Amino acid sequence: MQFVRTFIAFFDTSSDSLEFRRAQYAELSRQVPLMYGIVVINMVMLALTHVDRAPAVLTIWLPAAFVVICVLRAIKMMRARKRIPTDEVIERSLRTVVWLACTLGAAISVWSLLLFGYGDAYAKSQNTFFTGITIVTVITCLRPLKQVAPAIFVLVVIPTIVFLGLQEHEVFRAIALNMLLVMGGMMVVMQRSHSDFRQRVEKEIELAAQHRQLQSLNGTICQMANEDALTGLANRRCFFERLEQQIAASTSGNEPFAVGILDFDGFKPVNDIFGHSVGDRLLQEVACRLSSSLPENALLARLGGDEFALILLTPGSDEDLQKTCREALDALVPAFVFEEGSVTVSATCGLSRFPEAGGTAGELYEKADLALYYLKQNDRGAVTIFSDLHAEENRQAAAVAHRLRAVESEDVFHLEYQPIVNRDGRAIGFEALARWDDAVLGRVSPDVFIRAAEQAGTIGKITMPLFRKALQAARAWPDDVKLSFNLSARDVCSPKTMTALLEEIDKAGIDHGRLILEVTESAIMQDFSRATLALQAAREKGVCVALDDFGTGYSSLSYVRRLPIDRIKLDRSFTLDIERERVARDIVATMASLCHSLDLECIVEGVETVTQMQILAAAGVSGYQGYLFSRPMPEEAVGSYLAGQAGRARRPQAV
Ligand code: C2E
Ligand code: CA
Ligand code: CA
Repeated sequence: MQFVRTFIAFFDTSSDSLEFRRAQYAELSRQVPLMYGIVVINMVMLALTHVDRAPAVLTIWLPAAFVVICVLRAIKMMRARKRIPTDEVIERSLRTVVWLACTLGAAISVWSLLLFGYGDAYAKSQNTFFTGITIVTVITCLRPLKQVAPAIFVLVVIPTIVFLGLQEHEVFRAIALNMLLVMGGMMVVMQRSHSDFRQRVEKEIELAAQHRQLQSLNGTICQMANEDALTGLANRRCFFERLEQQIAASTSGNEPFAVGILDFDGFKPVNDIFGHSVGDRLLQEVACRLSSSLPENALLARLGGDEFALILLTPGSDEDLQKTCREALDALVPAFVFEEGSVTVSATCGLSRFPEAGGTAGELYEKADLALYYLKQNDRGAVTIFSDLHAEENRQAAAVAHRLRAVESEDVFHLEYQPIVNRDGRAIGFEALARWDDAVLGRVSPDVFIRAAEQAGTIGKITMPLFRKALQAARAWPDDVKLSFNLSARDVCSPKTMTALLEEIDKAGIDHGRLILEVTESAIMQDFSRATLALQAAREKGVCVALDDFGTGYSSLSYVRRLPIDRIKLDRSFTLDIERERVARDIVATMASLCHSLDLECIVEGVETVTQMQILAAAGVSGYQGYLFSRPMPEEAVGSYLAGQAGRARRPQAV
């Protein structure tokens, strides 16, 4: 029983691995047609020499049938070379080759032995020669199949040897002995040859597997090198590579495309408030929303931190391009809800077009960045395409920075004061506003030179002297009139500056409660934890804090509650719309009531008309600031303003 099982297993071609069977099939499809060719020629030769001696069935019909079978098989195997076979086809073919080798081999050998009886001594010699070379041909060509050589030995060689051994003439007995020895040797050679074949194939399979592994490793390395691990978007390296490629492709195809850079408001405080895990999830969510709202052929990349960039193919007209980006930014409007809390994020997008803005990756990126920079200063949350206006702004900023560097004495900076009034129109304080009259540039807006000094890192040199001047001025005012002083982002995030400011108040001998430090949301958001700590320290000393320009940044109410502030200053953009738009009126009324419930003062900026003031009064705000009451005035004018304020409150100044 065991022997039968071993025997069946030996003939089972499916026991080898799939790859090995594929290699066997490939080798056989090359060798088998050749083998049949040789066998057919051998048979035809043997049949021809016996035509006159043996019956037609042995010399014509039987060999003809064998030839037909051989030719058909040869054609089939030749055709198979051109196709990629399925696993089933391979399995079936291998089985057929083994099976045919055995049956056809046995049948042809019986045929040749039948012919043996009809031949003379020469023909008999040819017959034994035919058997010998046919056997050698078959076992050599079918060497990839380990089953064939032993099967042929058993089915063909042994019967032939026995047959020849039984012949009377000693030459045939010698041939039989010879055949036994040679074929025995051939069996050993064939088994070795099969082992060599197997080893070679297995080596090839192993090499192919290693190659595949290497390729997939290469793929992973390549993916890692080009992909941002957190969001799965393209990374900086990939972005610039693709940008270079796109420039090359668009230059030859004369096709326009656009580059965009996105800047986010609201990311930095998320890490500070909720921790980095929420920050990471927020980045992933943002990446997801942006990707799904951008066109499919757009490339969105995360260049690092919260810096994202995009390449937009077929951007269409300027309006189309802006609309596409606007839609992507709008996708970020709904709050991002996490277990830890909900977060709102807004984005600003600067764009540059190829070929108008430049022909290199560096130029296109830089121009998009300039457009973005312009927006960040002037219109956060918007989308714009780089134009000469942005370049001009940039030139002006560079000129201002250049002149600022040339400033030798801080005396060139001075202050003007604008009253902040309560609901009765009485001045409850003055806001100190910086002024700079440059010999070359003339009067430069504080918006511009403060920003330039911030960027140059020299803002401290302006803040401290001005603060001293402001304190000096405020000493001359009545005790119930407060001093509001503006701090820039760097000031509020620098513990050194904040400590120095508090020391100056002590030195000036002014009650801390008369001081209000004005900071913008964006300044706080630059370094939320540092800024809040510094402001908290100032408040502990009795100094008040006002949140300036409220409504222009993220204006997220959830942040307002967390900020250490005493006052909110609603930006003048609300005041502008208040007469025309009901929504603006509603917002102001809501803000006023929110401030009331949070115990915050609500001051509205930019009040220019009596109607505006009346609407604001009805909304319930706590105070106003604007040209209606007074434009910023020099220090010397404050005294007379205060002296005459009772009459002015009833009869506000014309604008
Ligand atoms: P801000 O703190 O919002 O100051 C109010 C600005 O609005 C002032 O412009 C003021 O002149 C203007 N303004 C007041 N009432 C009205 C009005 O009724 N209508 C209109 N259209 N404008 C009004 P200014 O003086 O040009 O200051 C611009 C900005 O420069 C300030 O905005 C503030 O952010 C910054 N700034 C001014 N002085 C300083 C300073 O000493 N330090 C820092 N860090 N920033 C300063
Ligand atoms: Ca201010
Ligand atoms: Ca303001």
